[in-house]
Amino acid sequence: MSKIIVSDLASDRPKLTKEQIRDMEVKLYPRCLDLEQRKPPAYSAAGYILPCCWADTAKWDGFEKLVQEHLHISNVKDVDEILFSDEWDEFFHNLIENPIMAPRVCKVKCCTKMSFKSKFVIR
Ligand code: SF4
Repeated sequence: MSKIIVSDLASDRPKLTKEQIRDMEVKLYPRCLDLEQRKPPAYSAAGYILPCCWADTAKWDGFEKLVQEHLHISNVKDVDEILFSDEWDEFFHNLIENPIMAPRVCKVKCCTKMSFKSKFVIR
């Protein structure tokens, strides 16, 4: 009979400070650009569209370019003006080509292709 156990992968991870994570060079597997594990854009209570809900933190740490006044939902006629803006283009470009520039939360959440559902292991 198989049983479901919680993987101990998380306990094996080294403890890093926020600053260490921010400065890390990592390859990213952005779920916001992944058609199989698609993480949809989020609409923040403050009126900004963000690439995913994990970006919606108190200070939008690392996402500052996406929360400028001209990208506020009240200042566009169509959401495409936000999603296809130079700022969003640069953000996605950096995720792939220059991941050291990526926000800390991206390095934490999207540094692996592994699905979050994989935290449960069936034996
Ligand atoms: S955490 Fe960053 S890379 Fe991951 S889905 Fe959100 S915006 Fe994209």
